Order: sequence, then C-alpha cells, then structure tokens
Amino acid sequence: MSRLIRISQSCLSAAEKQSGMGVLDREFLGKGAEVQEFEQALAAFFGRPTVCVVNGTAAIHLAVQGCGIGHDDEVLVPSLTYVATFQAISATGARPVACDIDPATCTLDWRDAERRLTRKTKAIMPVHYSGGAGDLENIYDFARRHGLRVIEDAAHAFGTRHNGKRIGGFGDIACFSFDGIKNITSGEGGCVVADDPATLRRIQDARLLGVEKDTEKRYAGQRSWEFDVTAQGWRYHMSNIMAAIGIEQLKRFPELAAARQKLARHYDELLRNHPRIQPLKRDYDNVVPHIYAVRIKGLPDRNALRKQLLENGIQTGIHYQPNHELAFYRSSSALPLAATDAIFPELLSLPLHPDLTEQDIGAVCAQLKSLLHD
Ligand SMILES: *Cc1c(COP(=O)(O)O)cnc(C)c1O
Repeated sequence: MSRLIRISQSCLSAAEKQSGMGVLDREFLGKGAEVQEFEQALAAFFGRPTVCVVNGTAAIHLAVQGCGIGHDDEVLVPSLTYVATFQAISATGARPVACDIDPATCTLDWRDAERRLTRKTKAIMPVHYSGGAGDLENIYDFARRHGLRVIEDAAHAFGTRHNGKRIGGFGDIACFSFDGIKNITSGEGGCVVADDPATLRRIQDARLLGVEKDTEKRYAGQRSWEFDVTAQGWRYHMSNIMAAIGIEQLKRFPELAAARQKLARHYDELLRNHPRIQPLKRDYDNVVPHIYAVRIKGLPDRNALRKQLLENGIQTGIHYQPNHELAFYRSSSALPLAATDAIFPELLSLPLHPDLTEQDIGAVCAQLKSLLHD
C-alpha cells in the first residue's frame, strides 16, 4: 500500500520550529513580547483589534461572555458545527438554540433561525462551515432587526474574503482557531477580532482571570501584584511559545492559503457533473477552505465507504455530528431540523491540507468515483 493520504495535518516549516525554540532559549514562556507581536500582526491583517487566547473554544466562550450573555439567555447557532461551538455557548450559562442550514452551503439559514427567536434570544452565531461565510448580509440584517449581537464562529475561515472584505475585518465579533490543523496554527491557540472597545476590554481582562488591565502590565514586562477583579475570568491567555509559532505561520499564510484554494478548485473540477457527488458551492478565489466536504446523494452506508477508502490509503472525516443529536444538547431543538437531518448521513470530508498535491486529489477522486460505481 502507498502512503496514507491524511484528511488533515499540521504544516510547519523550519521557521516556526526555530521561532518556538527561540522562546524556549529565552526562557520566558508565558504571555509577553511574542503574544503582543502576534496580536499586532493579526490586527494589521484584519485591520481591527485582535485578542489572542489559548484556543478557538476559549475565543468563543469569551466573546459570548464579553457581550454580557449568560444564564438563561439564548444564542442561535447551526446544529451542524463542531461541539466546541455549543460548549463555548453553554459554558456561559446561555442556551445554544440549534438552527438549520442552507443545504447548498451548509451555513446558517437565517429564516429558520427567525422561527426560533424568543424573548431570551441575545445573539446569533453563524459558523463559516469549511471557510464559506454563507448568507452573512442577511444574517446581519436579521440581527439588526431584532437587536441581536453577531458572534461569528470563523474557526474555518481564516483568510476568507466575503464581498471583498476579510472575515474578521468587518461586522460585530469574529472568533478564530489556530488549532494544529486549521488554516493557520500556533500549535493551539485562537483569537477574537472585534471593534467595540468595551467588549474588547471585557475579553482582554477575562482571559487573564479577570485581573483588570493585566495585559498592559505584562506587555510592559511587569506583573500585577496588586489589582482588582470585578468579573468572572478564566486562564485563557496565549503563551509566547504559541505566539512565536503563529507569527511565522502568518508570514507563510499567503502560500498556505493558495495551496488550499488550488487543491479545492481541483476537487471541484474533477467532481463536476458527477451524478451523485455534490461539492459545496464555494468561490475559491475568495474562500480559504479548511475542509473539503461533499454530499453523496443516496449514500446507504457511509461507514462502509469510509472503510473502503481507508483500505486504499485515503483517510476521510465527518463534519459534523449535529449537536442536537448529542445527549447534552438534545433539548436545543424544539422544532425539526429538516435540512441538517437530511444532509448529515450523506456528508463526507475528503483530504485537504497544504502538503497534498493535485495528484493526491486525483487519486482520491478516482478512488471515490470507482467505489461509488460498484
Ligand atoms: C476548531 C473549531 C472550533 C474550536 O477551536 P479550538 O481551537 O479547537 O478550540 C470551534 N468551531 C469550529 C467550527 C471549529 O472547527
């Protein structure tokens, strides 16, 4: 058997490794100069203030809390997302309300969300599934009409442009993940990008156990020995080791993004007009894809197909088991989720990461088509 074509993998060059080692050599591992430098580089990238944290889940948790949302409040969110999105919402005491998706894009259907509005609804959280931001204009219109905050789970969408603007560079709040296999990585890590100074201040303090203005102190090389705390905080700050890796990844991002886009375009081309395999509708001149998911119409047994692909050296994934099916979140859907329920058994994610070649994509498509033919 030839080498395994992995569904995803971290893609690190010597520069990231050296940069991380530099922090180990200097023996200042916590939150200091490298985190400040990474935040400044990200702020320049987005054109907006950026707060770095320990992972994407923490970014979402802090964003929800930073909007003053908590116990007994409700947040509209697509069921088809990683459980991190739901856990980050419920960590604040708020209730995630599972919404349906537009099956063509697998992103939030705001009309469905509207049916689930209550007096307790405080925010809507679109998830930029696979990197596409979906119907974001209408989601923002909907939010304005109902006085809701918009917290974008942009964990898949680092680098994506939407109507000419970078995700994170406009709107209310966007949360990103720098997990090892996301569009860029800092080992683990994540960030919140926002405009509103009051929200940003609450997020900055809450990531450092609620110690007020501790960020400024640490960036000045000091510690807060005497301080006040007025709100619940968490130990969610980013470390210098992570930031040092992230700084170098960000420099390489144009090349990493172009590789993902080229491979996704190649998939689209090879799968075009197939009678059963439906790629998602995405414009890869603007979308930087984190995953490449397809819908396989009339798929009777996804696990059997995945097993056969694996036997041929091709790893695949499932993004995601809908959250309203999980025991902890079963009560999140008072109304049916027809599109999600229909599409989920037919969703399959094919390998996508910058170290793959067009030949690899060709091999995956050939194998998949031949297995579906039998
Ligand atoms: C990865 C991911 C997260 C969480 O990010 P972590 O850095 O893994 O905590 C949240 N939402 C989605 C959709 C993700 O894919």
